[in-house]
Amino acid sequence: MRLILLGPPGAGKGTQAQRLVEKHGIPQLSTGDMLRAAVQAGTEVGKRAKAVMDAGELVSDAIVNAIVAERIDQPDCAKGFILDGYPRTLIQADAVEAMLAERGIALDTVIELVVDDKALVGRIVKRAEDAKVAGQPVRKDDNPAVFEERLREYYKKTAPLIGYYYAKGRLKTVDGMASIDAVTAEIGKALAAAVK
Ligand code: AMP
Repeated sequence: MRLILLGPPGAGKGTQAQRLVEKHGIPQLSTGDMLRAAVQAGTEVGKRAKAVMDAGELVSDAIVNAIVAERIDQPDCAKGFILDGYPRTLIQADAVEAMLAERGIALDTVIELVVDDKALVGRIVKRAEDAKVAGQPVRKDDNPAVFEERLREYYKKTAPLIGYYYAKGRLKTVDGMASIDAVTAEIGKALAAAVK
């Protein structure tokens, strides 16, 4: 199964992706996680991405497309994968189409988590607090000031993908404001309808 989780920062894509990993045994490909790992490791990509990420802006299409193209060729992706936080621009969406076509594989569906913007800042603040309590590192971009820029980037560059996938007949929408379990159940239904 190959799917894309679409939605603004804080919509719950990562949480739901983890549940899908457990249920379907396919990996979560989060470009945010991959970029943070590159920053942590101090690689060339990490050095180029760090300031952009800290400012809440998007890393270049060329960098993320290359990261994903390499990742999907790894053996654990053979049965499928969940794209979380990628694609985020129309150029990236076209790149996904090309990548899959080159490999003779297809996307099953795109699931949009629809959320109320006003709730998002609260979720981000809570995510930062939870990480702190758990003794985990707090993301530098999980604060209200940077979050505003991330949301602006989402509307400018990522929201157009909703129309892009709708026009292709691939888009399923799920109410992301429901409880985590209810969202999981709705995603399950959307997937069942997409792959039958
Ligand atoms: P995320 O963990 O998905 O919220 O991503 C954190 C940050 O990583 C974003 O604010 C961007 O700076 C960068 N990033 C993650 N995925 C992408 C992508 N597909 N395209 C461009 N930048 C990305």
